[in-house]
Parts: sequence; C-alpha cells; structure tokens
Amino acid sequence: MIVNKPYKLAAREARVVNTSIRLGSVTLGGDDVVIMAGPCTVESREQMLETARGVRRHGAHVLRGGAFKPRSSPYSFQGLGEEGLRLLREAKDQSGLPVITEVMEPGTVGLVSEYADVLQIGARNCQNYPLLREVGLANKPVMVKRGPGCTVEEWIMAADYVMAQGNTQVMLCERGIKTFETYTRNTLDLSAIPIAKRLTHLPVIVDPSHGTGKWYLVKAMCQAAVAAGADGVLIEVHPTPDTAMCDGPQSLTIENFGDCVAGIRTVAEAVGRRVPHLDAAFLPALDPKVETPAAARSLVLA
Ligand code: PEP
Ligand code: MN
Repeated sequence: MIVNKPYKLAAREARVVNTSIRLGSVTLGGDDVVIMAGPCTVESREQMLETARGVRRHGAHVLRGGAFKPRSSPYSFQGLGEEGLRLLREAKDQSGLPVITEVMEPGTVGLVSEYADVLQIGARNCQNYPLLREVGLANKPVMVKRGPGCTVEEWIMAADYVMAQGNTQVMLCERGIKTFETYTRNTLDLSAIPIAKRLTHLPVIVDPSHGTGKWYLVKAMCQAAVAAGADGVLIEVHPTPDTAMCDGPQSLTIENFGDCVAGIRTVAEAVGRRVPHLDAAFLPALDPKVETPAAARSLVLA
C-alpha cells in the first residue's frame, strides 16, 4: 500500500485497528484512560516509595520517575542515574505498578531497558535520530514526547523512526510547545490530540504538568485532554512539591492527585471511556509505613 505521507508506519492508512499497548493490567489505546504519575525526578528511596504508594492508592496505573534528567542548566541536579533506576525497581516491586522513565542516550538504552517497562523519549530528544533508532531496537514500549518546537508532522515522523526499526509499541505524548505566551511554561496543544488520533493509529498521552508548569492547571487540562480523546495522562506528583528538587511548581501533592483522578474519572465516563480500578488481589499489599519526606531529602543531600 502506498502511504503518501513523510511518515508511513504510524499513519492511520497503514493499520486498520488502533495500536494497543498492554501496561500491567491496563491497556493503552482502547477504552481505558491510563494514568501515569510520579515525581519529576527520583530523589531518594523514601520519596519514591511514598509517592508510589500514594499514587497507587489514588488510582494510578503506571509509575513515573526520572533517573537521567535532561536539565536546561548544566548546574542543576542531573538525576541519580543507575541508582535512580534501582529505586524505581524497588517502587515497582512494592506497588506492583509498571514504570516509565526517560532514556537520554543511545548508549544507555540497554541499561534503562533492564529497569523500565516503558522507555520515555523526552521532548528535547524528539529529533535525536540515533536515540530514536536505538529505542526502536529495544523490546519495550516507547513514549515519544513532542519536541517544544516540533510540528505535529515532525513528532509523528519521530515515532516512525522508532517503528522503522521494528518496534511497533509506540505511543505519542503531547507536552506543550513554545509560543509567545509566558504565563504557562509551554502552551499545551490540545488540538494535537484529535489531530494525532486522526493521522495515526497510535495511543496519545498528554502531559499537562510540563504543558502548563503550574500545578493548579493540571486537573483542568487532564479533564480537557480526556474530553478531546487522549488515551492517557502523565502527571507529576511529589509528597512535598515545595521541596522538590525539580519541577515542584507543577507537581501535585498526593492528595491533589487523588482529586485530579476523580475529576478525570468523571470526564472519562461522560465520554464513554473508563479509568480502570486496579484489582488489589493481583497487587502487592501496600506497606502502611510512610517515611517522612524530610528524611528522604536529608538522605539525598547528605
Ligand atoms: C519529563 O517528563 O521528565 C520531562 C523532562 O519532560 P519533557 O521531556 O516533556 O520536558
Ligand atoms: Mn519534570
């Protein structure tokens, strides 16, 4: 079949049915609205475990956390690296939630794949073609974030770079683009959701945390994203956003995350989707012991 577009494999014409991706006990790309949540960056064992327990309790299906961080300033905290991956593994084992984490370099795709259930291509790397090719060879689902300066077509072509290597488990993520507006960190392009759904057969995730940069806009933008057809959301959550090492102003507290999930559920049901409840019978019991975030921070800073 001839697909007359600069991208081929992601194109709607290339596949009759939508791509669906199994993530733990939920399926992305069907009726389920999948909620991915966790801190911007893995800071410490206590912070990660407390967040994992909290977001699972409130209905998250996938745990996020950055171990290799693409920071705008070279002097900002760059992430815990492999130690962060080990902490994500522990949080996954305790919570039963699959994990998504960013991979920044082709040379670390093997290492990150040992720990991650989903490989995240960060917005800054949307057009890093060697990296896209490398994750295309990995046996893991890949989430391709839209570059802040990328058109929808460039973003879809990035997905095709991954798919051209044989990896068909690809999802797109809208996370805001650069515009003249300065009130928000980026401009969340909600129209990109139905456009991407129309042009491709891939699941579309929306990240209102990076899209707005403001915690109090996250719930409304999650609801709008689901109303517009998003298959999932990616939300930054921190036990104490005021002291987060990265992206505190856009991070929800665990309590606010619970309110956000309730709001997403209302909209999902209104548009004929569902936010599945995880079956506790298939998950590890939640450890009631909750370590203090202060202890967590002192561990990192020590
Ligand atoms: C992130 O999700 O951790 C992140 C750095 O986001 P983005 O690549 O969209 O800036
Ligand atoms: Mn972040």
